[in-house]
Amino acid sequence: MISPDDLRSLPFLASASPEDLVRLAQSAGDVQLVTGEYAVHEGHERALFAVLSGRIEVTKLIDGIERKIGERKPGQIFGEVPITFGTPFQGSYRATEPTRVLQISARAFHALAAAVPTALTFVAALASERIGGLRGIATAQPVARALMVGHRWDERLRELRTFLNRNQISNDWLAPDAPELAQHWTGPAPAEAELPALQCDDGTQLRRAGIRDVADKLGLQTRPHGAEYDTVIVGGGPAGLAAAVYGSSEGLRTLVIEREAPGGQAETSSRIENYLGFPTGVSGEELARRALQQARRLGAEIIVTRQAARIDPARRLVELDGGQTLRARTIILATGVSWRRLATEGFERLLGKGVFYGASRSEAGSTQGQDIHLIGAGNSAGQAAMYFANHARSVTLVVRGDSLAKSMSQYLIDQLRSKPNIRVELHSEVVALHGDRQLAALDLAHRPSGAVRRVDSAGVFVFIGADAETGWLPDAIVRDARGYVHTGEAAAKSGHWPLARDPYLLETTVPGVFACGDVRASPIKRVATAVGEGSMAVAFVHQFLAQPGA
Ligand SMILES: Cc1cc2nc3c(=O)[nH]c(=O)nc-3n(C[C@H](O)[C@H](O)[C@H](O)COP(=O)(O)OP(=O)(O)OC[C@H]3O[C@@H](n4cnc5c(N)ncnc54)[C@H](O)[C@@H]3O)c2cc1C
Repeated sequence: MISPDDLRSLPFLASASPEDLVRLAQSAGDVQLVTGEYAVHEGHERALFAVLSGRIEVTKLIDGIERKIGERKPGQIFGEVPITFGTPFQGSYRATEPTRVLQISARAFHALAAAVPTALTFVAALASERIGGLRGIATAQPVARALMVGHRWDERLRELRTFLNRNQISNDWLAPDAPELAQHWTGPAPAEAELPALQCDDGTQLRRAGIRDVADKLGLQTRPHGAEYDTVIVGGGPAGLAAAVYGSSEGLRTLVIEREAPGGQAETSSRIENYLGFPTGVSGEELARRALQQARRLGAEIIVTRQAARIDPARRLVELDGGQTLRARTIILATGVSWRRLATEGFERLLGKGVFYGASRSEAGSTQGQDIHLIGAGNSAGQAAMYFANHARSVTLVVRGDSLAKSMSQYLIDQLRSKPNIRVELHSEVVALHGDRQLAALDLAHRPSGAVRRVDSAGVFVFIGADAETGWLPDAIVRDARGYVHTGEAAAKSGHWPLARDPYLLETTVPGVFACGDVRASPIKRVATAVGEGSMAVAFVHQFLAQPGA
């Protein structure tokens, strides 16, 4: 507990009377931090802190990477900007040794300021000074960590860009014939056969850059540090990241295996309107970014560009692509779903060259000023149309049915109507795609009349639903006809459940292997469900591990 003696040595309280110090001591928090523990995180609501003993480092997420931007020693304060200007914290404050800090709530600070105006003057002056420094950080010329060189519609370039974006690595792109290339690329420009090429901020270059090499080069974890984990989570979408947050925060040795980059399908959603706590909606990218930071901060290991290729249910081994094997005391399957393929002439040939499954926000730049088409009538298509309409000249939604109302939420239908450059073609189907090196046009059939017309198109994005890709799982993990994994009651009724006890709600037909999120056989496929189930899966992991012999 804080005593008036603790406060006497703090410079900003130099002119406080003994009575003021007693009052403050009664309302202030006494925060004891172990090394590495945070006093407050970036984005948190205002409060004022003072270091009583130990040391605090100030960090800020710049470009997805936590950088140290300052330090606080005993006697110094932090939180002066939020408390003075009513803003959230612009940095995080972490103890670098056992540290004790005083915490003054906004309400207590205002009472103090009324009684001791010099304390307010001191804090406000420091805040004004500090704002100058923050402005410097905010206005510093952003330097991208990676420069990509490649052709606009090259599928490998797109993969690379998606991968960098999903891993929150800032990047720039230049076409191989861009006049500025010589200015930004060190040494001879990459040859045609070396595209896509990548130059990192430390000057190293990768030619025909593959995702795994890029991940290694940029310092992303691609190999597990350990050989055994309490829980191995396969898939880093909302369900997997939620399981990682709960698992790691509850002391489980937790590993997430993600074949691409964390975020899952949600990352491709331009605006999730129905996730609790975000009254104005949140982009899937932002949600994924926050979840990833949270899981990492709490100690989960997350390896990217690695695929779980096989599970040995008897010994609970997980084999990664490339052959490395891990022992998992429990396994959580959170592999979600993958886009359904479209069987249309020209489709496979032009895939990645203007034709894509789904869409991420990073694609928007390539549609700038173009006429594009989206195939599908669900919320995913509607959200993408809204987002692309801010970039493309026109966005046409190609819909087989006679209305959007059967498959799309009304709020989205209303939003689509408000955008003059979005058109909806009902009763329509794309029957062929044309283009030499990249998509140039498509044939649009009007179903009732059978009439086909050719229209120019610079981009086709397909949103016709998704399926679970679970063919790699062992037969012992029972799935339905479409590959969705049975859990709980369905697992018990499958005739394959081997134990006397009933399976837990999210347990598959293999004891200790759980499934959550979209991959689980259940009619609800939403972010909130995935997050809820990912969190619940960890509760069942604890119950399973508490059993004798687990
Ligand atoms: C465009 C779009 C818009 C959407 N909008 C909304 C919305 O507004 N509101 C809403 O609630 N929901 C929305 N959804 C649905 C929501 O995104 C999903 O329900 C949610 O992402 C499911 O989460 P998940 O973690 O179960 O699976 P996913 O998000 O599919 O994540 C699974 C992850 O597992 C990885 N993976 C798969 N197999 C392996 C393997 N063998 N090894 C390693 N990794 C593997 C994948 O790469 C992927 O990252 C939208 C979906 C899309 C596509």
